[in-house]
Amino acid sequence: MSALRVVGQDSVVPLLGGRVGRYVNLDYAASAPALEAVRDAVEEFLPWYSSVHRGAGWKSQLATRAYEASREAVGAFVAARADDVVIFTRNTTDAINLLASALPDRCQVLTFGTEHHANLLPWRRVKAVCLPTPTSPAEAVAILDDALSAPSACPRLVSVTAASNVTGELWPIAALAAVAHQHGARIAVDAAQLAPHAPLDMTGWDVDYLVFSGHKLYAPYGAGALVGRRDWLAAAPPFLAGGGAVRFVTTEDVAWADLPDRQEAGSPNVVGAVALAAACRVLGSYGMDRVAAEEAELERYASERLSTIPRLTRYSLWDPEHPRIGVLTFNVDGLPYALLAAALAGEHGIAVRDGCFCAHPMLMRLLGIDQCEAMSIRDDLLAHRHVRVPGAVRVSTGVATTKADIDAAVKAIGQVVEHGPAWDYSYDEATGHYLPQPDDRAWPDLAALG
Ligand code: PMP
Repeated sequence: MSALRVVGQDSVVPLLGGRVGRYVNLDYAASAPALEAVRDAVEEFLPWYSSVHRGAGWKSQLATRAYEASREAVGAFVAARADDVVIFTRNTTDAINLLASALPDRCQVLTFGTEHHANLLPWRRVKAVCLPTPTSPAEAVAILDDALSAPSACPRLVSVTAASNVTGELWPIAALAAVAHQHGARIAVDAAQLAPHAPLDMTGWDVDYLVFSGHKLYAPYGAGALVGRRDWLAAAPPFLAGGGAVRFVTTEDVAWADLPDRQEAGSPNVVGAVALAAACRVLGSYGMDRVAAEEAELERYASERLSTIPRLTRYSLWDPEHPRIGVLTFNVDGLPYALLAAALAGEHGIAVRDGCFCAHPMLMRLLGIDQCEAMSIRDDLLAHRHVRVPGAVRVSTGVATTKADIDAAVKAIGQVVEHGPAWDYSYDEATGHYLPQPDDRAWPDLAALG
């Protein structure tokens, strides 16, 4: 565990049967709690919050300064080049869709089928090529080299994840960037998963674009970022048309603004940007190398402890020894993944994620499901029958995870594997969830619950 504290770190939650227990958060890969320092930075800023850019008031001037300083903090965190633009987005999905909207004419995009849906689907609107799944990082580079080797008169963009949200495996970003550039292509990196766990180095890796989400980086205030080369984004019309993105409008015509305003139409999420920048500053001064080293030790510990559970299969695309962030995905033979996840939450207070993790092709590949079977699963889902959808359980760690958290999870998984759930659950065919019967946990009295 690092010395960085997150909000709600010591939460206690209700368990089935009238008990309570410490909340063990092992779902950082989906969304991370705010760092306490991020919450403090937001609280400090809120009294000064005001409209940005055109506001004449003193607070508007201050908020504008804070918003623009946030760009600098984000750029420094990802080691952007001096002439890169930082555009605030809602999240990674938004950032990739924005980049997809700004591709030059006839641009061809190359991705691997193992990507998160956010890095697969936006490209399908353009000319996208899905590369075969590599059996090693070296093969990933070779596949890309081969795919790009035929000369092309069209611009080309490779878009690849830095760390898988399913297996945690690190992709060879610098080598992929070198191959892309050798063939005259650009490369975009989906750093949604890597950003919270290891240093990002746009300049050193020589990548053209990088995207990530604040809510995975301990700043869940609704902002993410797209960082990268200006030319395509400056030449394209705004992704969203509206106020803020323009220089001048007549009833017939519009003169769009320069970057970054051009691609940030509408009132920006100033608090989100301030929060994201606070996370970048706090993590940057703590040291992302230090975070990576601490989490690598935890990942080794979790791997070792999980391997003691009988009938458990871990998933990896590559050699299990290949470096990864703390994302461990598995199934237990004879135990439905969703039932295990429900029992861990309801009986033990342990939060994991289960299902397909927004990476259906990747999951089908890891689970050995062929195209024909995948199509029949799709038909079931279209008929609202969530009856045999394959999936897995994912444990993921973050800066506040301790070895005690891993021990608690391994003990609880071991108990469910050995004795089965200790409560009754019914299966909900419409959603694929297991629902405790009865569910006697009461919600706390929170204004947010209405
Ligand atoms: N890429 C990866 C690798 C992810 O893990 C995620 C989130 N699970 C995304 C993209 C999409 O991020 P967001 O939902 O914040 O847009």
